[in-house]
Amino acid sequence: MNRYVIDRAALDGNVRQVVALAGVPVMAVVKANGYGFGLTEMALACKRGGITRFAITELDDVAPLRAVLDEGDDVLVMRSTALADEAAAIVRSGCIATVGSRAAARALDEAAAAAGAVARCHVKVDTGFGRYGFLPDDVEGVLACYACENLRVEGVYTHFSAAYGDGALTRSQLAALEGVCAAVEAAGFSAGVRHAANSPALFNVPEAKLDLVRIGSAFTGRVITLAPTGLTRVGYLEAQVIDVKTLPAGSPLGYGGAAQVKRETQVAFVSAGTQEGFGLAVEKPPTLRGALSTAKGAAQKRRLEVVIGGRAYPVLGEADLSLTLVDVTGGDVQAGALARLDPSPLMVGRNVPRVYV
Ligand SMILES: *Cc1c(COP(=O)(O)O)cnc(C)c1O
Repeated sequence: MNRYVIDRAALDGNVRQVVALAGVPVMAVVKANGYGFGLTEMALACKRGGITRFAITELDDVAPLRAVLDEGDDVLVMRSTALADEAAAIVRSGCIATVGSRAAARALDEAAAAAGAVARCHVKVDTGFGRYGFLPDDVEGVLACYACENLRVEGVYTHFSAAYGDGALTRSQLAALEGVCAAVEAAGFSAGVRHAANSPALFNVPEAKLDLVRIGSAFTGRVITLAPTGLTRVGYLEAQVIDVKTLPAGSPLGYGGAAQVKRETQVAFVSAGTQEGFGLAVEKPPTLRGALSTAKGAAQKRRLEVVIGGRAYPVLGEADLSLTLVDVTGGDVQAGALARLDPSPLMVGRNVPRVYV
């Protein structure tokens, strides 16, 4: 049976390393099923590392997350929403809302008023992502949040669009956030907790740490940075060789015979494919560095590998939905052998059990 295997000690080590490097409070981003490591397991690993602030995108995650947190732990909902029902649910949940537009501020304000509550929130500034957030020149919209009776703005943040590579772009985004903070303070408000850094920024742009860093991928050890991080790459997909057969030279492979084997080939059938997240494109930064290594990236894609019995074998053709053909010619691979695959954990379907060892 397929399973995604996670080394708990290695994960804990990554959490400790991130906390030590940050030097400011760490907010653990546990979206997308805790980066594929399981929402509650990832949250608990962060708790063991002393983290008390968490961030999610989906309201469905609030209840299971709350069940493993302490009473006073903070949960930030990073989705800014102008939907009345979502705003009401955030107010009821006791989470910290994100307000990224005037409509979202209005929805949250009305939800708080209806509940007879004051809604805790952080203001989001869009400094170049094009997603949630007030544009940096909409200072008036930001100030309206701070002035709103039913909102308590406790922080202000932005999200970097290219912190894995382009330091100049990241620094300009940081400056835009700081400009908004200065305008808030000049208007007589306290801006609150200022935050911007995600995992790559923590490593690549140290001045972006501000008052708090929001970290997700670094916990898994899968973060794109300019220099090696020292983190451990955690997690692998374990599948099984379900059968082995010999294909004569020239045999077609796959739908439409898109590929062919050039020589007589021993083929192992491995019980996992794109449905388990294997063979899907990931971790490809569209940076200068990325552009330079595009050829290398394409080569890497061609060289998709599966490890069986400690030896790496090339994948034949493309991974199928739930099956991958592996060229094990010259190896001693039998049905029943365990295979290790390295998909991004984010892509590993929720049907695959996560197993901590
Ligand atoms: C996903 C996310 C993060 C965490 O990013 P990593 O690079 O995985 O650390 C931080 N902030 C926001 C707004 C996010 O959506």
